[in-house]
Amino acid sequence: MSQPTQPQPAASDRSPRFLVIGAGMSGILAAIRLEEAGFGDYAIYEKADRLGGTWRENTYPGITCDVPSHFYSYSFAPNPEWSHRFSPGAEILAYFEDVARRYGVERRMRYGEEVTRCAFEDGRWRIETSTGRTDAGDFVIAATGVLHHPAYPDIEGLEDFEGALFHSARWDHDVPLADARVGVVGTGSSAIQIVAALVDRVESLTLFQRTAQWIAAVENPAYTDEEKQEFRRRPEAMRAIRDETARAFVDGFANVLVDADSPVLGLIEQNCRENLEQSVADADLRERLRPCYRAACKRLIMSDGFYEAIQRPNAALVTEPIEGVEKSGVRTRDGALHELDVLVLATGFRVDRFVRPMRVTGRGGVVLDDVWQSGPFAYLAIAVPDFPNFFLLNGPNSPVGNFSLIDVAEMQMGYVLQLVEATLAGGASEVDVRAEATQRFDAERREAAKSTIWATGCRSWYLDREGLPTAWPFTLDRFRQEMARPRLEDYAMRSPERPAHGRAPS
Ligand code: NAP
Repeated sequence: MSQPTQPQPAASDRSPRFLVIGAGMSGILAAIRLEEAGFGDYAIYEKADRLGGTWRENTYPGITCDVPSHFYSYSFAPNPEWSHRFSPGAEILAYFEDVARRYGVERRMRYGEEVTRCAFEDGRWRIETSTGRTDAGDFVIAATGVLHHPAYPDIEGLEDFEGALFHSARWDHDVPLADARVGVVGTGSSAIQIVAALVDRVESLTLFQRTAQWIAAVENPAYTDEEKQEFRRRPEAMRAIRDETARAFVDGFANVLVDADSPVLGLIEQNCRENLEQSVADADLRERLRPCYRAACKRLIMSDGFYEAIQRPNAALVTEPIEGVEKSGVRTRDGALHELDVLVLATGFRVDRFVRPMRVTGRGGVVLDDVWQSGPFAYLAIAVPDFPNFFLLNGPNSPVGNFSLIDVAEMQMGYVLQLVEATLAGGASEVDVRAEATQRFDAERREAAKSTIWATGCRSWYLDREGLPTAWPFTLDRFRQEMARPRLEDYAMRSPERPAHGRAPS
């Protein structure tokens, strides 16, 4: 049964109300920025019983973020306590919990409330949650994440397996691993981290590889007590690391991925090839680990331990295709049965979901699912025509890759706030991206996508159903420029039927 909604004052008497959906990295950021901007009327809806998004859900052994921690932090909340250059997942989760508490936004989170319906009716967004709670707001910020819905492979007989079976993002910590024969399906970032962390803890580890991966060597030193002391004393030392890392990742990586002809890509591939040649002793194993596509076509994997792990005596790399799963293990096409106690599906995510399965209905009853029928898109990754006052963080066409998505979300939230301020300053209450602007952007995006490294002939989660990369295909510098100031001519602002908000823009 629906719970009653709090009585709302008339539109003219109140500041706009914001509904933030999702309490992961972007949702926490949205709330903090709203507070700072003086928009104190907001609620954060979170379906789980705690915050943290991807860092709450991914707890597999070996989980770290392969973006340096001083870069993978909010710009306004540097953390002198990071233990390593690439810190483990549990530490990252604790960081988000700490920031949410310190900035006073944790108390505004409504846990256990999955937003199931979100509809633009009579000029306001009305939501309904899984518990029947309803709420209404003027603006929605969808901070629902990208790598969120596990993708389960279509392998025959999975349900027949009598051992423990789970997805990498749903790790079952009750399953004992010592003395276990463990199989891992997949060779993405998750699988590579799992293999490196597990091999010495289990009886045997079998990695089922469909596609080999390019792997860049990285080192992950711990910060010393003296270094942390220095960070506490001089926060500018953290800022310097952050700026340096950001520049290196953006100039040396993000900006070159979008130009498949960039000579820098050759250097990246050379680095990966040398890593393979120098790290893998056995020629046969080396060849089976050698990819047959260009480095960085798939998201580049950074690892300091995978090659070592896969050469351990108790590790096996299986490159025969999987025929099916049986009660005692995995059968490959050559007829071999690989007997297992535990099977981990490190098979990635359904990356085209975004806010769905929530039913989102925009102006005139238009349904987001229908609008996104041939694939999700958003103007500058932020807005969709006919969904006024509805903004996505890390939404479709957003930059993704080996750089900080926190940095990306911060740029996006800055843009959204400017847009809201401009709308209110103009005396309007609704802002809707124009269809022509969206089409223009999408056509340009699709054209640019063809010359990115991601389009050079590999399968990856970056590609849509037609095989076209969906991520931001321009430089990250261009994204920063676009986000710096909204082009207001690309939006229609209106104030239908109700007066403008009384609040003066800050
Ligand atoms: P992923 O990169 O999508 O990899 C999925 C793997 O599963 C691929 O190797 C794929 O093979 C394999 N696979 C899927 N279906 C299969 C099937 N039916 N049979 C055999 N193999 C199958 O997923 P992920 O490793 O979870 O990583 C997803 C993303 O999460 C990453 O790209 C990254 O953005 C993020 N991530 C980041 C970090 C970090 O440190 N920052 C860590 C983990 C994850 P094919 O290659 O042949 O398709």
